[in-house]
Amino acid sequence: ITGHVGFSNLPNQVRRKSVKEGFRLTVMVVGESGLGKSTLINTLFNSTVCAPREPLHPAAERPKTVAVENIEADIEENGVRLRLNVVDTPGFGDFVDNGESCNPILETIEQRFDAYLSQEHRVRRAKIVDTRVHACIYFIQPTGHSLKQIDIEFMRRLHNKVNLIPVIAKADTMTDEEIFDFKERILSDLAFNGICIFQAAIYEDEDEESVAEAEEVARAIPFAVVGSDRAARTPDGRVVRGRTYPWGVVEVDNPAHCDFGKLRQMLVRTNLEDLREHTNQVLYENWRTEKLLAMGI
Ligand code: GDP
Ligand code: MG
Repeated sequence: ITGHVGFSNLPNQVRRKSVKEGFRLTVMVVGESGLGKSTLINTLFNSTVCAPREPLHPAAERPKTVAVENIEADIEENGVRLRLNVVDTPGFGDFVDNGESCNPILETIEQRFDAYLSQEHRVRRAKIVDTRVHACIYFIQPTGHSLKQIDIEFMRRLHNKVNLIPVIAKADTMTDEEIFDFKERILSDLAFNGICIFQAAIYEDEDEESVAEAEEVARAIPFAVVGSDRAARTPDGRVVRGRTYPWGVVEVDNPAHCDFGKLRQMLVRTNLEDLREHTNQVLYENWRTEKLLAMGI
């Protein structure tokens, strides 16, 4: 059993070491207001860590910049606790100029690289705290059309700094067929614009079941997600996390209804180690090389 099959499957000894060294996975959520970021965070943690925010009154003074908020909580995976940091970015997309939405986020990611770099340069490097962003979940509005200018601009500027995981927000507002077509459209828009999203590695040397699982997760990108922080009762009497409609209940944890489970699985199981490794060995390393070159070192 190797690291990339997930935190709870790590050998005990490794896990203890990871916990002692402050094992953390940091995930950022980005997307326009109202697309369900806070709700998805709560769904991921299965608790209300992110209070819902009242929509701004049209006459209210608007925030002058995108906020960057850190939420830290435990998540349980097969009975094992994993500390997850979520960076929420309320205000993204609220500006006339897209650059004003993207810049604060790029700065945050680079500041965290910087913080890591200065710790590496310390003489005593024993206790490096890794606050780098290992994944960025980017919420796409469920329009069924193509990506918007702000989506393309954000992802183009960020794709070589962070592992991008695009998701279709509020997927319960689209039919299965619409989602299927929209996914294809998004992938071709991304390719056309030269945007690289996170590639989920498939390890052929693992057992068949794990390979099949990993392939299924990889194939579902961009994940069509549904979030809900309340319970719903299905027509057949089950109590589930979901959203109630006159015709029935969309179940968050039902793979036939949406890809939420696959997103969660990618983050805390299938690709947890890949996300950390790719951040460290490729994204951070490239940033570091460029930075040191620019400084003439
Ligand atoms: P944020 O601004 O991106 O953080 O969005 P919120 O999480 O505050 O959600 C905005 C509104 O959308 C709330 O009324 C939520 O109940 C609703 N919402 C959140 N997730 C979903 C979803 O998956 N489907 C639908 N239909 N509504 C959702
Ligand atoms: Mg929010």
